[in-house]
Amino acid sequence: MKNAFRTLAMMLVALGIASCGNNQGTAQPGAEKAAASADTAKTYKWKMVTTWPPNFPIFQEGVERFAAQIKTMSNGRLDIQVYAGGELVPPLQTFDAVSQGTVELGHGGAYYWAGKIPAAQFFTAIPFGLNAQGMRAWLVSGGGLELWREIYKDHGVIPFPLGNTGVQMGGWFNKEINSVDDLKGLKMRIPGLGGKVLAAAGGTPVLMAGGEIYTALERGTIDATEWVGPFHDERLGLYRAAKFYYYPGWHEPGSELELLVNAKAWESLTPDLKAIIEAANYSTSLWMLAEFEARNLDALTKLQTEHHVQVREFPDDVIRELKKLSARVYEEESAKDANFKKIYDAYKAFQTKNDAWNNVSEQAYRKALNLQ
Ligand code: CA
Repeated sequence: MKNAFRTLAMMLVALGIASCGNNQGTAQPGAEKAAASADTAKTYKWKMVTTWPPNFPIFQEGVERFAAQIKTMSNGRLDIQVYAGGELVPPLQTFDAVSQGTVELGHGGAYYWAGKIPAAQFFTAIPFGLNAQGMRAWLVSGGGLELWREIYKDHGVIPFPLGNTGVQMGGWFNKEINSVDDLKGLKMRIPGLGGKVLAAAGGTPVLMAGGEIYTALERGTIDATEWVGPFHDERLGLYRAAKFYYYPGWHEPGSELELLVNAKAWESLTPDLKAIIEAANYSTSLWMLAEFEARNLDALTKLQTEHHVQVREFPDDVIRELKKLSARVYEEESAKDANFKKIYDAYKAFQTKNDAWNNVSEQAYRKALNLQ
């Protein structure tokens, strides 16, 4: 063994001596070095579009933080110009803009692309699905991210989870919800699968952008709306248009937000810049969830004490019925789309285990905390 190493070392020395006497040999390592430093000296000017209104707190604010952090960490080598929804492309064209390479990056919610990719909804939130903690566990450590990347692959887009709202509120209603019958004929702004469940309960889901909600509710065009949580709902002034504020947000128990990266643009990056994006992504995700939690708890108090909002819990019977209808909606959607079924099966398997663990961890602790 020792002899073999000695022979190898001697061969290397011999090659080294040989290179020294050869012009081409000395030029080659130098050229490689130059290429490597040219690579790390290369700067990138990227564009990023989002589905959010300009200055939208936490959402757009988080994305701008993310871009600023990347610029600092890369010493200016990756400079991302962020555009809010409508500034460069309409909000709901964010996915297409990234897919077509019009821009390198995007931020939004995967359920916005349900018309194009029905299974994408699992990567934001589904009725009675995982909460923020569960979503993070499924995506990062439970195989969810691989499934997500698989369904975006043909579109030339690489997704990353970037931010989570935490459990949302059930929404604003202009009447009390005492039974499932109160949902019949109810016109409510509620997106995605939650809307399909409301329709199965006899209601009418309405889709509209954030900017139109207040006026529609105030004028009676809609009877109810969900938005986000106390902090964003208070800002939108929804308490002035409806009296009853219901919980929990059964339809959005922990909405994961997404970073979209154009696959070709990603491949053009040096490994250190890829690592910087990933690090800034994790850091911003943590910041966003912390902000939602901290700002919501203050806003809930404000809504109750300053605006005298009636905060109500949905009756158990209503929740039971919505849960039953959700299961039916999942079966119907699974029958229509093979990817939806595949991802629903994987999601459900993870959630079953997660629920069992939650019952003896978070849930049991919550019960202990509330015992008198
Ligand atoms: Ca919502």
